[in-house]
Amino acid sequence: MKAELLYEGKAKKVYKVQNNPNQLILTYKNDATAFNGGKKASFHGKGRLNNEISAHIFPYLHENGIRTHFIEKMNETEQLVYQTEIIPLEVVVRNLATGSITKRLGIEEKTVFDAPIVELFYKDDALGDPLINDEHALFLSNVTASELQEIKEKALMINRKLGELFRQVNVRLVDFKLEFGRLAEGCIVLADEISPDTCRLWDLKTDEKMDKDVFRQGTGDLLEVYEMILHRLEARS
Ligand code: UDP
Repeated sequence: MKAELLYEGKAKKVYKVQNNPNQLILTYKNDATAFNGGKKASFHGKGRLNNEISAHIFPYLHENGIRTHFIEKMNETEQLVYQTEIIPLEVVVRNLATGSITKRLGIEEKTVFDAPIVELFYKDDALGDPLINDEHALFLSNVTASELQEIKEKALMINRKLGELFRQVNVRLVDFKLEFGRLAEGCIVLADEISPDTCRLWDLKTDEKMDKDVFRQGTGDLLEVYEMILHRLEARS
């Protein structure tokens, strides 16, 4: 049973669960934001789509040996998860160059990285989520050096598994962002969401964008492309 609201973010609300301090309920909102909150809109149905896409991906990762916070989808827009203390790092994995890395490092759009690149950003809206190195991450978060190593290895393993999943449905996994959290018992698991809000997904044949970039860049219908991602994932299983 849903209890008090614990936290409201840009895309989700987090509720406590009555009589169970180890679990939380995530409610996916219809709001979309880009450019650190500079562009905002609401899309009726986006919450359902991201909840369902995430609820498809997390069990798949679990089946492939990756521990996550996900317990179950409760209804169209809500899911039950284990309570974790979120580690304030955004872990980005890139297979192809696009977005911020092309501007920051002058890398040509669509350059393929033979070895995927892992980047760490400090999760702090007021600072604009700056890019940080491992030493910054160790100073700014409560992870040990070996836990940080483990997080980066997990991110690469997730990249391999997620890349396989999307390839099966004719989608190219360009890049994505992960967040990890610490369970009450101490170990670190994948948390947050994996959806077209947090991944760049391109059609394998046409390179058509099927993610939040259509909203960021105003180049397409967000609901239509998110629906297509869900439809393709559902058709696979
Ligand atoms: N990303 C995210 N949340 C953020 C920043 C980035 O989910 O706050 C995702 C984004 O959707 C993309 C990847 O992380 O799949 C890399 O984003 P990038 O650093 O290129 O940022 P952008 O170009 O969007 O500023």
